[in-house]
Amino acid sequence: MKLGVVGLPNVGKSTIFNALTSNKAESANYPFCTIEPNVGIVAVPDERLDVLTKMYNSKRTVPASIEFVDIAGIVKGASQGEGLGNKFLSHIRETDAIIHVVRCFQDSTIIHVEGDVNPIRDIETINLELILADLESVNKRLDKASKQAKTGTKDAVKEYNLLLAIKAELEKEKPARSCKFTADEYELAKTFFLLTTKPTIYCANIAEGDISNPSNNPHFVAVAKKAEQEDNTVIAVSGKIEEEIAQAPENEKNELRELYCIKDSGLNQLIKASYNLLGLISFLTAGEQETRAWTIIKGTKAPQAAGKIHTDFERGFIKAEIVAYADLISAGSMLKAKELGKVRSEGKEYVMKDGDVTLFRFNV
Ligand code: GDP
Repeated sequence: MKLGVVGLPNVGKSTIFNALTSNKAESANYPFCTIEPNVGIVAVPDERLDVLTKMYNSKRTVPASIEFVDIAGIVKGASQGEGLGNKFLSHIRETDAIIHVVRCFQDSTIIHVEGDVNPIRDIETINLELILADLESVNKRLDKASKQAKTGTKDAVKEYNLLLAIKAELEKEKPARSCKFTADEYELAKTFFLLTTKPTIYCANIAEGDISNPSNNPHFVAVAKKAEQEDNTVIAVSGKIEEEIAQAPENEKNELRELYCIKDSGLNQLIKASYNLLGLISFLTAGEQETRAWTIIKGTKAPQAAGKIHTDFERGFIKAEIVAYADLISAGSMLKAKELGKVRSEGKEYVMKDGDVTLFRFNV
């Protein structure tokens, strides 16, 4: 699962990306690293892991992770090949969701490519490039689909009609995701590899002084309103502060957060929102050796969740012993939770929930 970080030049993409990917202190055992200069694996912050690690006195803690890609190079005209043009667009095509960074900070020393700070215009500039690129893809596909639809197979007609509906939306300069897809249509639309079907988070890069109360910043307010209209999420981040915190020694990070009056860092919120946006949840395993969060897609059943740990676990699945994290914590220990009848035995059809503390039983 991969998220692409996009935005106009000089909005703070690299600053935010670098802060995200240098935030790798959570675990020394996991490769939270920058794979290539522009690709980084980032730990998903999860306070529950710290609590379980203490409860079980675990030797190591392994958080869930997601991948971020810094996609530089979009400028007006990218869909026509300006800037890095098509190369940039093909990088977005490979991601599952988009983080769209917009500049809401004023700083006369940092040039804005469009002359002044206006995040709504910037969002529309980038969205238009993505829409134009999609329109080109849809038109190409329509050529073929219209011929196939004439042969009359049900699937071909379905594809043709969906392409027409998406085209109509794009021609109104709206992203394909604003079509109200049914689940089936959405699955089919994914096979078109469009850019504007991807779920999006707006990341408002706001001034240091505004971070304790983002709604003081009128640019942020405008972005939040736009996000709401589009059913998108918005997160306020101060690239400058996050960069400073990321570079500070571990023991000074909290002091800095207090100084800037930020409770949960914007980056943590951004990572959590990204995880949500991708439809991901975590189940947890805990023991003396290791406490760990495992990533699954919402709706995953117990055997397939077991398969995340090892294929043998899925093949030989017997049952899962599960206690909800909150129940385990209020009981105080696994033993007590068992006494209280909070540990359930679940079978093959059980749909896993976020925070299920799980032990799988299986045949080898
Ligand atoms: P990118 O082109 O979007 O990747 O932008 P960069 O991350 O390279 O940032 C461009 C410039 O803006 C750099 O000089 C950053 O230090 C500066 N910058 C980034 N975020 C902030 C911010 O929140 N406040 C201020 N004042 N400057 C920032």
